[in-house]
Amino acid sequence: MLYPVLITDLDNTLYNWDDYFAPSFRAMVHFLSKETGIDEDVIFSDYRYVYREHDSIEFSKSTQELAFLRDYSSSRREKLAKTAAIVFGQTGRVYLHPYEGVLETLSWAVRVGIKLICVTNAPLVIAENRLQRLKMSGYFSGLAGYLTDWKETEFRGRSKKRIYWGLQKEELNSKRVAYEKIAGTLKLSPKSMYIIGDNLEKDVEPAIDLGAIGIWAKYGKECKPKSLETIRKISTLKKGEVNVEKKHAVPKKAIVVDKFKEIKKIIHQPPQITLEGFELD
Ligand SMILES: [Mg+2]
Repeated sequence: MLYPVLITDLDNTLYNWDDYFAPSFRAMVHFLSKETGIDEDVIFSDYRYVYREHDSIEFSKSTQELAFLRDYSSSRREKLAKTAAIVFGQTGRVYLHPYEGVLETLSWAVRVGIKLICVTNAPLVIAENRLQRLKMSGYFSGLAGYLTDWKETEFRGRSKKRIYWGLQKEELNSKRVAYEKIAGTLKLSPKSMYIIGDNLEKDVEPAIDLGAIGIWAKYGKECKPKSLETIRKISTLKKGEVNVEKKHAVPKKAIVVDKFKEIKKIIHQPPQITLEGFELD
């Protein structure tokens, strides 16, 4: 019997990233506009430029690099950036929620002996923080993500119970490298790896190619129209680029789920140790 491991993507698989990020971002832009008198559209456009430069929509020092703030003194710029981050964080607290049934399913998985690993292309420090704010950090025995300027060894100390895999940005273009590293460290057979994610190209296809069970979190595509509009406005896609993910076909071997909790029906539970004559409530 193979002991199953559930590897899950973070954004738009465990929680709705779009509906969390977009209103938080708008609140931050609104604050900056009110403080400086600069039009919100100009601020949107400056953020888009910074995100494209860094190829990340969650680049943490983006406000300090906004073009319209260049003429401000560094102390004023720092102060604005700091308060903007607070506005973002406070708004985010209202909009950051796990999808329905996620916490219950994670808790069930741990209870029945399924090991949980989170794989994300977000920086490890952001992912760690977000798992904590989503109140699901304690369920995961491993986290793989983008190793920015944080040293892998520093991360080991953050949670003694958790294993961290720090990867380079290019290694996360497809998550295959991450899956292989996890399989290597934990000595897993791909057949025991259940891998769920909302991105067919980056999460699901590499899982199936590896011989694991690939599960497509179809629900991850859904968000409020206003969130989509905001994210499109600051998209890091370069001019002329199209979102290839939209055109991507669902691999034949992929299992499609409309809710995260459906994985309870998909994963074969590990054998339970039972004592004769002893019954749990
Ligand atoms: Mg995702």
